[in-house]
Amino acid sequence: MLKPYADVIIDITHAAVDRVFQYEIPEELSERVFPGARVRVPFGQGNRLRDGYIVGFSEKTDYDPLRIKKLEAVCEDGMPIEGQLIRLAAWMKERYGGAMIQALKTVLPVKRKLKAVEKRYLVRQAGAEECEELLALCRKKNQKARVRFLEALAADETLPYEMVVQKLRVSPASFRPFLERGICRLETKSSFRSPLAGELSPGTGVSLNEEQQQAVRGILSAWRGDKRPCYLHGITGSGKTEVYMEVIRQVAAEGKQAIVLIPEIALTWQTVMRFYRQFGDRVSIVHSRLSAGEKSDQMERARRGGLDIMIGPRSALFTPFPDLGLIIIDEEHEAAYKSETVPRYHAVDTAIERCRLAGAMTVLGSATPSAASYYRAQNGEYHFFQMKTRAKEASVLPSVEIVDLREELKGGNRGIFSRRLRELMEETLMRGEQILLFLNRRGYAGFVSCRACGKPVRCPHCDVSLKVHRDGTLKCHYCGYEMPIPRACPSCGSGYIAGFGTGTQKVEAMVNAMFPEAGVLRRDMDPPSKKGSHNAILSAFADGKADILIGTQMIVKGHDFPRVTLVGILAADLSLYSGGYEAGERTFSLLTQAAGRAGRDSLPGHVVIQSYSPEHYSVEAAASQDYEGFYWHEILYRKLLRYPPVYRMLSLLITSREEEAAAAMAGTVKGEAESVNEEGLLELVGPAKASVARINDSYRYLFYAKCEEEGPLLELKQRIEALDWGNQVQYQFDME
Ligand code: ADP
Ligand code: ZN
Ligand code: ZN
Repeated sequence: MLKPYADVIIDITHAAVDRVFQYEIPEELSERVFPGARVRVPFGQGNRLRDGYIVGFSEKTDYDPLRIKKLEAVCEDGMPIEGQLIRLAAWMKERYGGAMIQALKTVLPVKRKLKAVEKRYLVRQAGAEECEELLALCRKKNQKARVRFLEALAADETLPYEMVVQKLRVSPASFRPFLERGICRLETKSSFRSPLAGELSPGTGVSLNEEQQQAVRGILSAWRGDKRPCYLHGITGSGKTEVYMEVIRQVAAEGKQAIVLIPEIALTWQTVMRFYRQFGDRVSIVHSRLSAGEKSDQMERARRGGLDIMIGPRSALFTPFPDLGLIIIDEEHEAAYKSETVPRYHAVDTAIERCRLAGAMTVLGSATPSAASYYRAQNGEYHFFQMKTRAKEASVLPSVEIVDLREELKGGNRGIFSRRLRELMEETLMRGEQILLFLNRRGYAGFVSCRACGKPVRCPHCDVSLKVHRDGTLKCHYCGYEMPIPRACPSCGSGYIAGFGTGTQKVEAMVNAMFPEAGVLRRDMDPPSKKGSHNAILSAFADGKADILIGTQMIVKGHDFPRVTLVGILAADLSLYSGGYEAGERTFSLLTQAAGRAGRDSLPGHVVIQSYSPEHYSVEAAASQDYEGFYWHEILYRKLLRYPPVYRMLSLLITSREEEAAAAMAGTVKGEAESVNEEGLLELVGPAKASVARINDSYRYLFYAKCEEEGPLLELKQRIEALDWGNQVQYQFDME
């Protein structure tokens, strides 16, 4: 008797999932129960039979075991979408930790009372002859409004109410007699609001080139075949979006639905519009700025078969499509696909699991694949397709130069613009073309680097940058290594130690001083509050209302600026020092994407990358747009230092308001991990006090375990979960 009690939820709504009821599992059903199974259970005082879903199992019950009711039956008539999502939640809980209830709230749609938009119509009931007679009568009486109405009704059986009142200017009093006599009737249809309605009129697509057609054929044959995930690696501007649309068109033609994940709607509005132009009302979007009601409407439209395609960020993954065929994840390498809150799921793995449950297929795409995904593709876990040329005629990749900022400093230039970049800016402005200046600020805060040699201060054990701690020391956030902030650079002895401290505002002021004539726009990192504000700046720039656009990484994605021929990346390597093992990968992808903004049309593009570490493989490979070159370096580094994807890594964050309780629990975890690791399969790091050890007055410890196999890590996770955590200490897992 491993699973004596089933936890059942009766009412599948977001708000009601914490009301779990326990039922005993009769012997004869014990083989057929699993999380997500639909069951019939006796409920309430009259023991009326109701449907519910199993969300988990318990060994013990808080109720009197003799009075607990039994499951009546397990329904076998296929698995409804809710059951599938509950199974997915169980998988997420197992893999990423957290409570089942948190996982359920993540996957189950927020159900609200539907606020359908009601549309009224006047529908003709009478035959043509009767109408003709009436019409003649009204003409004779010179009742002009009624004549207009009857003429319209004769031409069109169904007239929208609004149209009659507003366009035909026929008042309800005029047509009420017709309703009373049964000439026509009033009909109310409810439809759901679409966040896209009225945006654009449908247009026509492009015809795919040979590379694109090959990708489409490959992906579709995988879809009809083993349904292993597909990876589409295509350079910036190679036309991946067109490939997704064509694949979806064919999948939808077979009655299946598709989910398209994009990192951020506001940044990819152009992409959304391309889908809308092709698929019209069969596509919808969800995003964080929709109200709960609007979101719920979209989910309900999807569940009832009113949509073929849902586009959105991470959470769109859980769209309750009844017959899902495809999940596409564009810009797969983006950090936004990893949830920062519990359950800390990754959209890629979760999509693959959802597809496995639904008999669907995942397609991943990027110009700069994450090392983790590329590694899996190389190992044959994914089908792999490549596109190496830009899709638009005459559009070629830009020429890229790297400028060494250390040399600039030696040459007496302490400004943030190198001489070469200034020169090219001048030339570009003279030709009347546009410039994009890109300030790589990611990870800028909190580390210390040298302006003379460019080296950050690194952890001797983990090879990641040390972060500045509150008490003024430098700390490693993996192992806890600690040292005071040095006065001189440990690598070259220079006293110019401290970062490239510049914000977009300062850059703007300098540009204004250098080129007083030029029109300058600035776009910062802070997320736009409304859908419009962000686009307003980008649209103004796209329309040629300014010569120079300054911004952070937010400006580099998803936008075509045909007249941009120069991209200047002011301090390319700041993101190299962000402190995590993925810093090299992030830098490569940001630089490649930024460089990819130049020369999108027929004008040739130039890119200047200013860097303190021009010899770093991430910078060099981005300059030559050489993904493979980057990858082989990166994977070697990961292997040497035992980081994912070569090794699996389990991390644990321990937090408490009580300093001693946190420290004590950290010690217990360490002891437990060591006892699990008797055979020495695991590499254990920490627990160490986290670099920002007190956030919101809580004490934080980080612990890592690395292993080539996932199995021992999952076992360790279970053992840690089974520890007595009391109620003073909280914990959070992450699995990479
Ligand atoms: P990616 O998603 O790979 O960056 P896009 O799908 O956004 O590329 O395509 C880049 C540009 O090329 C877009 O403006 C798109 O309209 C255009 N494009 C894509 N495919 C074709 C094609 N077959 N013929 C002409 N233009 C194309
Ligand atoms: Zn130095
Ligand atoms: Zn370290």
